[in-house]
Amino acid sequence: MKVCVIGSGGREHALAWRLSKSPSVEEVLALPGSAAIAEVATCLDVDWHDADAVTAVLGANEVDLVVVGPEEPLVLGVSDVLKDKGFAVFGPSKAAAQLEGSKVFAKEIMKKYNIPTAAYDTFTDVTAAKKFIDEVGAPIVVKADGLAAGKGVVVAQTKEEAYAAVEDMLTAHRFGSAGGTVVIEEFMSGEEASLLAFVDGTHVVPMIAVQDHKRIYDGDKGPNTGGMGTYAPAPVLTQALREEAVQKILLPMVQAMKAEGMPYVGCLYAGLMITKEGPKVVEFNVRFGDPETQVIMPLFDGDLGEVMMACTEGTLTDEMVSWKSGSAACVMLASAGYPESSHKGDVIKGDLTEQDTVMLFHSGTAKQGDHYVTAGGRVLGIVGLGNDLRHALDRAYNRVETVTFDGCQFRRDIGQKAFK
Ligand code: ATP
Repeated sequence: MKVCVIGSGGREHALAWRLSKSPSVEEVLALPGSAAIAEVATCLDVDWHDADAVTAVLGANEVDLVVVGPEEPLVLGVSDVLKDKGFAVFGPSKAAAQLEGSKVFAKEIMKKYNIPTAAYDTFTDVTAAKKFIDEVGAPIVVKADGLAAGKGVVVAQTKEEAYAAVEDMLTAHRFGSAGGTVVIEEFMSGEEASLLAFVDGTHVVPMIAVQDHKRIYDGDKGPNTGGMGTYAPAPVLTQALREEAVQKILLPMVQAMKAEGMPYVGCLYAGLMITKEGPKVVEFNVRFGDPETQVIMPLFDGDLGEVMMACTEGTLTDEMVSWKSGSAACVMLASAGYPESSHKGDVIKGDLTEQDTVMLFHSGTAKQGDHYVTAGGRVLGIVGLGNDLRHALDRAYNRVETVTFDGCQFRRDIGQKAFK
């Protein structure tokens, strides 16, 4: 079959790379892709916002299956448009994508179906929101309802910080309509992990557990980012906890979506807090994580094209998915100024070639002549594979030592929580 991946970042690079090794896949395309993705796929220079151009080019290329990478096209309903035109689409409908597109929607459905998450209330009125903050006390978490590129969540350590977040969202309209309603929720303590799953509307097949590092600096200091590194499998989610998360969170959510008339197809991502009472949901995402995908794909053992197509046909089985033994670790290199800003055009020096045990997934690069330059905040994810996590980390960091560009930032403590 011919498969087209929509997107252009590191996640899409990892997906296209893995699909290119899939026995059932004869050709991988990417829309729009990137210079790095062009090394494993045919890139289609089309803007995904232009529905007519997208359907025309996918039709002309006889694409069988479309895999939607980022959340924005899903939340805007690209999946529905393509399905109407007869394409098989790995990625939820606009209705189902509200699980990520609206935190109020996600919290309401979790409450209705008893899926473990932080206690909460929703507000559009500042006075009522402040009263609730007074009642609950700090620490407390304030979230803008809609998509805010990871910046719409404030974990407030004091009531004053929480008041300020509420005013920022409801009075100053910092996130526009995405912050017109806020969710205020109980602070959960514990370690975080991401559990993603393949879903075909009914069946749920979990992937290996991953831990991300969201803050820019070592020791989880500094502002939140899109993710500075990941490793898998993450031992914090033991086999028993993973099973509990499937039975109490992923499966009930997929059943709930079906019961609500919006069956879920694609990758369902549960951001979990491993609390003393067990795993609880921090957030749902309706697509693969970035950079979770960069460690999941090298460990995936199966025919990815077949698995994704089975999701669209409702024929997914456990037997289709298996995992290689060993570990993977991804260290993200970011450009100067990230996450507040980013610097483009710095030449990337060093060894960018792939080996059996080292992969490079490009998040934000461009090609100038025969070399790569930086072209975004997060630039390059360097992934090491090994028999165990130490081995994987050594391989990733050994390569990180050889790759650099002006202002390059990365964390030196990826994976360290696993050894505590
Ligand atoms: P992103 O899209 O970047 O993953 P987001 O904007 O959807 O993030 P969340 O994942 O809901 O936001 O929250 C961001 C971070 O804030 C979480 O990874 C977690 O560290 C922290 N957080 C969110 N909710 C809670 C909570 N109830 N208790 C403790 N920490 C929380």
